[in-house]
Amino acid sequence: MKILLILAGLIFLGASARWNWWRPSKKGVAILMYHKIGQPPENSKLSNLWVTPDKFDRQMRYLKEHNIPVISFGEYYQMLQTKTVPDKAVILTFDDGYEDNYTEAFPVLKKYGLRACFFIVSDTIGIINKWHNPATEPHQKMLSLDQIKEMRQTGMEFGSHTLSHLNLNDLNIDDASIQITKSKVVLEQAFGNKVDIFAYPYGAGAYNPAIKQLVKPAGYILAVGIRQAINVRGHEDYFALKRITVRGDENMYDYYLQIRGGRNRL
Ligand SMILES: [Zn+2]
Repeated sequence: MKILLILAGLIFLGASARWNWWRPSKKGVAILMYHKIGQPPENSKLSNLWVTPDKFDRQMRYLKEHNIPVISFGEYYQMLQTKTVPDKAVILTFDDGYEDNYTEAFPVLKKYGLRACFFIVSDTIGIINKWHNPATEPHQKMLSLDQIKEMRQTGMEFGSHTLSHLNLNDLNIDDASIQITKSKVVLEQAFGNKVDIFAYPYGAGAYNPAIKQLVKPAGYILAVGIRQAINVRGHEDYFALKRITVRGDENMYDYYLQIRGGRNRL
């Protein structure tokens, strides 16, 4: 009997470490970070960056059925300015601009009437993710300009993810500045619209004051990093907003925990 109780206790502790049900709910905005929607290629060493279309559909349905407001960055910025950020809201983001965002994610978003923000690497529009080392996963096709324009017409937002997806911490300040500034100009010319949201590749620069201070003067209003948490109301860092990685190997309980408290695991 005693052994059974100890065993039950250990299972409970193990499960509580893996699924952090005990974290308090936080008031603010959960910015979810996706990369690729689809089945990961064989031998992918980055399979957690892939969320299957079925799972993505379930996640979007969850937001809809639970009446969780899904807002745009444009709306978020207004809410920050007017101090009207709600108790809970979600922003959907996709990094890098993969073609599957159009073929797999876009139809689901349209089905549920949801908007998302896509961060584009301007040098790779219509080609492949050429910055990527194919040893970890084959190169992927990227969104074309026509696909982006079609998505934009339905209210999707597009932000800059630099010119070529370099780690900004590895560059000198002038080169980092070009990555941040020129990508904005190139994307604005291509889209015929303002681009004022920025995502640091690998989150690099969001936590480096020398890089971070380049973003606002370049004309951006908000920028996202990759630290896992809710952007707690009243404590938002406009140029290093926190995000929550949605991993391909996680379930709906993880999703619920992340939106509620910002983290689902230790
Ligand atoms: Zn990226």
